[in-house]
Amino acid sequence: MCYIGAMGKETKAKTWDVIGHQSVIEALQRHLAADKVNHAYLFVGSESVGKRKVATEFAKALCCQGATKPCGECKDCLDIEAGQKVDVTLVSKEKGKIGIDQIRKIQHRLALKSYTGGHKVCIIDGADCFTLPAANAILKILEEPADKVVFILLAENIESIIPTVISRSVIFNFNLVAKSEIAEGLADENSPSVLAEITQAAFGRPGLAIKYLNNSDELPRQQERRQELLQILDKDLNQSFQLVGSWKVKNEQAREFISVMTEYFRDLAVNKVQCSELALMEKDTTITDRFSGCQIKDILSYLVKASSLLSQNVNPKLVIENFIVMLHHDQT
Ligand SMILES: [Zn+2]
Repeated sequence: MCYIGAMGKETKAKTWDVIGHQSVIEALQRHLAADKVNHAYLFVGSESVGKRKVATEFAKALCCQGATKPCGECKDCLDIEAGQKVDVTLVSKEKGKIGIDQIRKIQHRLALKSYTGGHKVCIIDGADCFTLPAANAILKILEEPADKVVFILLAENIESIIPTVISRSVIFNFNLVAKSEIAEGLADENSPSVLAEITQAAFGRPGLAIKYLNNSDELPRQQERRQELLQILDKDLNQSFQLVGSWKVKNEQAREFISVMTEYFRDLAVNKVQCSELALMEKDTTITDRFSGCQIKDILSYLVKASSLLSQNVNPKLVIENFIVMLHHDQT
């Protein structure tokens, strides 16, 4: 297994149409330049952080006929962007899972001869949500890699992926992207005041910033929803259980809850160590001072685990209730 992080400030020029993730892009460019492309890559990071965008650009670079790959202008690049290239398959979750039927369709497409004789690329968005038969089937494909076939697996939680799939993949971690970098990436068509509000609310996820820009109703709706979920932090144990009891908690809502809490406590951790320039939201000392550094660390560890439990279909209400118990157990 080759493990490549994505740490460090991202300042160098790049050619891919992606906001952030410079170190990931440079590593992939090195694989391309050295003609040492692996059979399987695993991109791990939050939803909307840019995994699918980088995967699409990488697919273009693998298939592009232009001089600078990806050129973004040749038929292959344009077809991939439009989702119309036969040699590039994108598989997404259906009802929160990737099932065996979807893997069989991939096998069928991989069995067909490449139209151009070049690479065949399969992007699977939700590699942490395979059913067991699907995970076994994908493992079998990865164990016997066909020539010029590249799998790009996208996942939010590496803990939910079977170790044998991980061991056959080159792993890239996708960190949250700095507000300034998102603002810079979207600066051409938007005013500084709009960008300030959007990047503040996007919590390091360029895909979310673009969603807010494209749909003016989305940001106020998300902000209201976020406040609704965060009110749990102001309640005692009894009140918290009553509040959760009044919610309709399905897997999707629990994921949203865990995601909001993870963003929130990640920022508390950043503020706690006096690295407020890395914080994604404004410092709130009334909350920051309520938790010690160790408590925040334990809560963040649980939130990572909770996310993995939700991928394994553990009762979503139970996951939230356990979080509440932990919150009040740890609070001073
Ligand atoms: Zn091209």
